[in-house]
Amino acid sequence: MECYFDNAATTQVRPEVAEAMIPYFTESFGNPSSIYKIAQKNKNAVEHGREQVANAINAEVNEIYFTAGGSEADNWAIKGIAESYANKGKHIITSCIEHHAVLHTCEYLETKGYEVTYLPVDEYGMISIEDLKNAIRKDTILITIMFANNEIGTIEPIKEIGAIARENGIIFHTDAVQAVGHIKIDVKEMNIDMLSMSGHKFYGPKGIGALYIKKGIKLNPLIHGGAQERRRRAGTENVPGIVGMGLAAELATKELDTEIPRLTALRDKLIKEILEKVPYSRLNGHPVNRLPGNANISFEFIEGEGILLLLDYKGICASSGSACTSGSLDPSHVLLAIGLPHEKAHGSVRLSMGHFTTEEQVDYVIKEIPPIIERLRQMSPLYEEFIKNKGEK
Ligand SMILES: *Cc1c(COP(=O)(O)O)cnc(C)c1O
Repeated sequence: MECYFDNAATTQVRPEVAEAMIPYFTESFGNPSSIYKIAQKNKNAVEHGREQVANAINAEVNEIYFTAGGSEADNWAIKGIAESYANKGKHIITSCIEHHAVLHTCEYLETKGYEVTYLPVDEYGMISIEDLKNAIRKDTILITIMFANNEIGTIEPIKEIGAIARENGIIFHTDAVQAVGHIKIDVKEMNIDMLSMSGHKFYGPKGIGALYIKKGIKLNPLIHGGAQERRRRAGTENVPGIVGMGLAAELATKELDTEIPRLTALRDKLIKEILEKVPYSRLNGHPVNRLPGNANISFEFIEGEGILLLLDYKGICASSGSACTSGSLDPSHVLLAIGLPHEKAHGSVRLSMGHFTTEEQVDYVIKEIPPIIERLRQMSPLYEEFIKNKGEK
């Protein structure tokens, strides 16, 4: 059975989304800035996409700016605020479990004279509101905390963070790439000033994303050039991408009321059964405040890479931590931040479900995982030693 359990890395484009995009590659290929009729149709398509994206997070239409993805939106928000508000201060607060698009941007700014506080997280991957309050200084210009973590699925206390940022007159950005289209978001109610999202994480195309910028926020452009996106983001619009992302956002948010309970039930079944069937395994991330489709489990004594290979033989696609870190032997910064020792962090697997995941697939994964873990442990010197020591006690 083919089981794609890596929806946190990317998702399959919905067929209706792909279909809606096609005319904008072929007959309707005009540049939205041109004045003839086919171009006008494209301009309207872009504005319709903007409206669909705005509705998904309860923003105003003119607060949405299209980018080439989540990484660009994160870079723009953070570098843009750093530059625009440098005369107010040079201190930024973030967390130590952010996606690399945020972490590496903050590290870059540190080389340019900015100071960054990386808030720690608890064993579940939650930041503490007390820590946040204590980190705020007179020269703090930006708080950037992710909505939900891409590896362990933990959902951060965004509304509380937004309230504190507002009280202190500090701009609040959130990387919501894992959250948009998966859980409910209301930028007004949650006091969010800027929010990053990416089309390919909610069944839209890759290479298209958006940054929500609340009206009144000063933000220098990242990409200079033409006057597109109200002079804030240059470059000819990715019309098919915007059409696809807009429709994908609309469909995903419309289905939240049914998809959240469906995926939560599948997730909890997967977690419960695996933890029951496999000894010396543990769940990473928050047991309740977590993304509906995310399960991240550590298996002691073995390597995540080995598990992924054997899962692949069985047609199961999963991931050990973040896709960006595969290829490196360092354990995930997120798993280390929640306090896992290196050897447990190494034996971790992320199984992320989504719109196309069925209960049959979940049952199949539940059936296949225990013998794979058992087989790898039989080859593990760590496990052999553990069993030997146990026998001697
Ligand atoms: C995938 C992801 C990104 C990067 O988005 P791209 O569109 O792939 O550039 C940023 N942040 C988080 C939390 C992500 O999951």
